[in-house]
Amino acid sequence: MTSVISLNPSAKKKFDDIAFIDLVAQQKRIRPAIEKRLQAVLDHGRYIAGPEIDELEGLLSERTGAPTVISCASGTAALIIPLLARGVGRGDAVFLPAFTYNATANAVLLCGATPVFVDIDPDSFNIDPVDLDHRIAAVRAEGELRPRAIIPVDLFGSPADYNAIHTIAKRDDLFVLADGAQSFGGELNGTKVGALAPATGTSFFPGKALGAYGDAGAIFSMNTHDRERWASIRWHGTDDSRRESVRVGFNGRMDSFQAGILLEKLSIFDDELETRRQIASVYNDKLQSVAKPQVHGKGASSGYGYYSLRVKNRDEAVEKLKARGVPTAIYYSNPLHLMPAFADHAPVNGLPHTEMVANEIFSLPMHPYLSDAQVEYICETVLEVCA
Ligand SMILES: *Cc1c(COP(=O)(O)O)cnc(C)c1O
Repeated sequence: MTSVISLNPSAKKKFDDIAFIDLVAQQKRIRPAIEKRLQAVLDHGRYIAGPEIDELEGLLSERTGAPTVISCASGTAALIIPLLARGVGRGDAVFLPAFTYNATANAVLLCGATPVFVDIDPDSFNIDPVDLDHRIAAVRAEGELRPRAIIPVDLFGSPADYNAIHTIAKRDDLFVLADGAQSFGGELNGTKVGALAPATGTSFFPGKALGAYGDAGAIFSMNTHDRERWASIRWHGTDDSRRESVRVGFNGRMDSFQAGILLEKLSIFDDELETRRQIASVYNDKLQSVAKPQVHGKGASSGYGYYSLRVKNRDEAVEKLKARGVPTAIYYSNPLHLMPAFADHAPVNGLPHTEMVANEIFSLPMHPYLSDAQVEYICETVLEVCA
């Protein structure tokens, strides 16, 4: 089989072992460095708030351009902390897409606020600013809740339409908290995820594009005064002495082992991202004729946490792909407003674009350790199955 492009000339993989995400190959590449980092934590013994935490926060700030970066326990904590810090809670409406992971809505409800689900754009799969506008107006007209915040989700790594979202937020004085759990490495018009909204939460869950070996996350702020409050909330709401509780908080910290691992993963992240983008561009070129790949907004560049596309005969297609050795995943077959936990907040007329996309979406293997031949095999198989 001839190669389309040279991504990983050294990778010699068989077609019967294509991984959806390959953490084994990545670990092989950096294992000695990881072991050194773990050893360092064992030696200094500062399992919480070790030097790795400051080093990681500094590097993340440098890379994204966000002046404040606070590491935290998970992507979920990274959404809850900024909402708590803003006092978002009872009586507040928080606008978010239903086409996302459940954590986005859980964060809102755990703060005591009310989620208001907004439809998506069927091409970008991200929150639709026009529908957002309508739903804010509807909440105002009803007069029961106070419109307070918007949580755009950069689905599959593709930055949401922040230009339109910020225009609406400014007009209505709403807080914008970006859910960048899937979009670390993404950019919009040259600005990196982390610096696209006043506050951004991301996740370093092992399967994300930048993943730890356990749970971890980070919050990015475009100002410096969030630092004190966020750091306090993640440490049980204490002040600098860590003895006095000055606000309500919880244990929202990242541990030093995870920070050490992330530092090593960060050192190869740009190289990995470049390969992800090359693979995505092959998928885009080859699969347009049988599927609708995610369309990134103008000026947007995805971090390619996932590569997702729409096809009409989705369930049949993923079955056939599986039989031919191409693993897939479906994010998300069930939008949040149709789940029991969030059904109370389902819009009366549903969310037509969200529901349509949920029936057609699936994700192909996307990781930087796919060989050229594997990428080509995946494309040929999709073309065959979806023809
Ligand atoms: C993974 C994810 C989260 C939650 O991150 P955790 O680290 O698992 O808490 C939140 N939102 C989105 C969109 C995610 O994909």
